[in-house]
Amino acid sequence: MRFLRVAIDVPLPRLFDYRCDEATPQDAGLRVIVPFGSKKVVGLIVEVTAHSDMPQEKLRAADRILRDMPPFTPDWLALAKFCSGYYQRPLGEVIHAALPPKLRSARPLPAAEARYALTDAGRQGRPTLPARSRARAALLERLESGPATEAELARLQKGARSLARELLAAGWIAQTPPQRSMPRFVAAHKLTAEQASAVAAVRSCNAFRVFLLYGVTGSGKTEVYLHAIASVLEAGKQALVLVPEIALTPALESAFRSRFPGACIVVQHSGMAATERTRGFLDAQAGEADIVLGTRLAVFVPLPRLSLLIIDEEQDGSFKQQESLRYSARDVGILRAREAGVPVVLCSATPSLETWHHAASGRYALLPLSRRAPAGADLPRVRLIDTSVHTPRDGIAAPLAEAIADRLARAEQALIFLNRRGYAPVLACAQCGWVSGCPRCSTRLVVHLKHRQLRCHHCGYAARIPRACPECGNLDLTPIGRGTQRLEAALVERFPGARILRIDSDTAGGRLDELFRRIESGEADILVGTQILAKGHHFERLTLVGVVNADAGLFSANYRAPERMFQQLEQVAGRAGRAGLPGEVLIQTRYPGHPLYQALARHDYEGYAQLQLEERRQAGFPPFIFEAALRAEADQLETAMRFLRNAAALAPAPCEGVTLFDPAPMTMERIAGNSRAQLLAQSASRAQLQAFLATWSAALYAGRYPKVRWHFDVDPTEF
Ligand code: ADP
Ligand code: ZN
Ligand code: ZN
Repeated sequence: MRFLRVAIDVPLPRLFDYRCDEATPQDAGLRVIVPFGSKKVVGLIVEVTAHSDMPQEKLRAADRILRDMPPFTPDWLALAKFCSGYYQRPLGEVIHAALPPKLRSARPLPAAEARYALTDAGRQGRPTLPARSRARAALLERLESGPATEAELARLQKGARSLARELLAAGWIAQTPPQRSMPRFVAAHKLTAEQASAVAAVRSCNAFRVFLLYGVTGSGKTEVYLHAIASVLEAGKQALVLVPEIALTPALESAFRSRFPGACIVVQHSGMAATERTRGFLDAQAGEADIVLGTRLAVFVPLPRLSLLIIDEEQDGSFKQQESLRYSARDVGILRAREAGVPVVLCSATPSLETWHHAASGRYALLPLSRRAPAGADLPRVRLIDTSVHTPRDGIAAPLAEAIADRLARAEQALIFLNRRGYAPVLACAQCGWVSGCPRCSTRLVVHLKHRQLRCHHCGYAARIPRACPECGNLDLTPIGRGTQRLEAALVERFPGARILRIDSDTAGGRLDELFRRIESGEADILVGTQILAKGHHFERLTLVGVVNADAGLFSANYRAPERMFQQLEQVAGRAGRAGLPGEVLIQTRYPGHPLYQALARHDYEGYAQLQLEERRQAGFPPFIFEAALRAEADQLETAMRFLRNAAALAPAPCEGVTLFDPAPMTMERIAGNSRAQLLAQSASRAQLQAFLATWSAALYAGRYPKVRWHFDVDPTEF
């Protein structure tokens, strides 16, 4: 008699036993269909055993083991188990979160997609295409760098599937079986001395080691990891590259394709079709993929020959998932590298304070790049504009207006950064003091003039802009403050001849690539944008960055706010002057003497990090202590608070080395009609905190709390 111990996606911290006579010990790691309650579900076999502690008559039989893919390896299961233990989440839920959608159900796996290669006819025909055949040209150009699947082409170009069929009929492309070719590396630049020594350090490391590639914006960090990946591919191994946002993947993917011709590159993010994502996952697991490039979820992609991990923009908050499995892909990535015994390279111009702390103490190996790579490119000069001296008109102070006019005259580009979309952050009545609040959240409704709507940026609630004050009937309601739409309108008025492009999540939709292309080809003079524009991109003619309204960030209650603000401003400043034209950054502020702005003006990340770390040490915040939050959500705040008070009573006592705080409402108490509260636990010892959480969560899982949804957030970043 054989038994299966199966992980199932249910909120219970245990495995489930089933009878299964056909099973062999090699079946651990395979998916299996089992009855659960009145349903059939797909679970993952964690173990095949000869006995079960469950009484025989209670055991049900498994339906069928799915043998359509290779089993997940013990390494991979160990990673999932670690996350389950560390983040206090049942193993079945962790595995569910780690799998691409099509592997969560029992339906047949997606078949391998048609793959196309360029024929000689296509290679000769390409230059003869008329200029308007842009879509065809793009497909052929892509195929010039190697075969591609239909799904890859579809991601690149709308209507690609039918175009591909036309090109196939014309004999310009042909179907080709997947074949492993030896990837090549195309070196593009002569490395600077600092780049070369960073590459050498990573190359010569063939054990676990965390490197911090700390390089100012534009210093050629990407170039360094391309070289490091080159030697990985040369050795026939696999590399995993994580980036914080989907928007950063297309440019990097095409860089990889042109620098590594012949390499099998798999992209993984939540924006792609489920079939393609699942195929890529399977290709990686089968050892076909040379490079996996993706957002945080890619940290779970199985890679049998993994030998290097890259985490680009490691400081970015998007690596932390804020729902269901609340994991940090950076931290899981480091753990994964440790388990695999391979190096991991964290890249940043402004590392997170946790990472900087480890680099300063020598735990992480520091690889500095202190200058911009391209000849003649220097860091932009930063000027602080005191708005109490230069009163802004419509949000723009005179020195910034002059600097913009200057760029227009020289046909260079200016970027005005305002991290707040919409027209104005709130609508108010001057007569009675009414302000537009969201009925479902503890937040304000944002004025969107274009659609004549008030919108909630947290829950999606939308309503028409009222004609009169709902409280007193006053007809004269005023939008207070400024968002990107209002700034755009002001700029249109100030610079009537200029081509102004607003880029925020309202205008970007799915067309971000298209907008970036327009910026690069010089179709815009002034860009108005949110943090979407701050990251990673490289615009040659951009020489001015203006920052308006950043001051609010100085006074946030979250102790992580100053760190984020510095990172964000340094990053957006880094967009200026990347290609040899001198760049300039103007920051409008009422507090030009503030240490944060002073440090920014000197591009002094290290000084500011030291200052912040000292504050954190004195106040007892991470990285000097470790934190976890128990969170509760309910219809009524009191219900959530009562749950947390009871939960505190269930906490292991005495809880050695762990401090438990009183329950408190979250900073933003209501979202989408749910009230939220939390209970914070702190400890100077990660091990003690982990032991405490394990006992505590077991006690919590044993109870039933019908009106409350609860979870742990370990190493929380939002409060
Ligand atoms: P980072 O990621 O550090 O911001 P990038 O890797 O994007 O910087 O590099 C910035 C620019 O410098 C890119 O256009 C890149 O092609 C160029 N570059 C990188 N290394 C060199 C080098 N050694 N010599 C000349 N240009 C370089
Ligand atoms: Zn009123
Ligand atoms: Zn809302």
